[in-house]
Amino acid sequence: MKEKMPVVFVGHGSPMNAVEENRFSKGWEALGRELPRPAAILAVSAHWVTEGVRLCPAETPRMVYDMYGFPEEPYRVNYPAPGDPALARRASKLLGAKEDDAWGLDHGVWSVLRRMYPGADIPVVEMSVDANASPAELFAMGSRLRPLRNDGVMILASGNVVHNLALLDWGRADGFPWADEFDLWVRDRLLSGNFGEVLKWRNAGACAGNAFRTTEHFAPLLVALGAAEGDRAETRNEARTLGALSMTCYLFRSRKNDNKGE
Ligand code: ZN
Repeated sequence: MKEKMPVVFVGHGSPMNAVEENRFSKGWEALGRELPRPAAILAVSAHWVTEGVRLCPAETPRMVYDMYGFPEEPYRVNYPAPGDPALARRASKLLGAKEDDAWGLDHGVWSVLRRMYPGADIPVVEMSVDANASPAELFAMGSRLRPLRNDGVMILASGNVVHNLALLDWGRADGFPWADEFDLWVRDRLLSGNFGEVLKWRNAGACAGNAFRTTEHFAPLLVALGAAEGDRAETRNEARTLGALSMTCYLFRSRKNDNKGE
């Protein structure tokens, strides 16, 4: 039987990670080398927030430079990956979602993909975050996308588990204690296979109140969990930085791919 594609959640952080050689961008490069090469990528981005879910059906997705006040370098990045209109159509049918070519690839997606797959030769379809969806609805969307994994499609969700711009400390290399606490609360539940508990993230206590002001960077993780239900979770780039940002990534692989045959 063909290998089921893994699901990936990437903590993308600052757009400078797209152009800097640092521990996070190096970790994304390693992830690209480690994973099986997908036939196409369905990328859920925290940076495309819409009323209802949208999928970009463009044959050649345009670059979206949705960041402000950074040096020139990230604005010069070009990631000319082709689109995949047939995949956009299939995913929109699975989700009952609209196709919308007003968007393209934003920095949540291109900053990561240019490191994972620098050849820009794997078709990419970007998917938005539904501004109105509850955690359970986001999870259900991921569940509906699950069949795509059997056809070589990598579901790649890009956000940040902890993302509180108002509390960022640009001089700080690690995380505030509450940021560590929330990131580890999520990690412990995912590594032990209790994905459902993460939908009730408010149960993490006071640290959850600081983790984010708005949920769009957390939402892609919940879509990934629906697509990955039953899978074994592993972390990559596990870290907090700038006080209020988690860079932790998750890799979800089917247990059927385990050598032990669990
Ligand atoms: Zn972001």
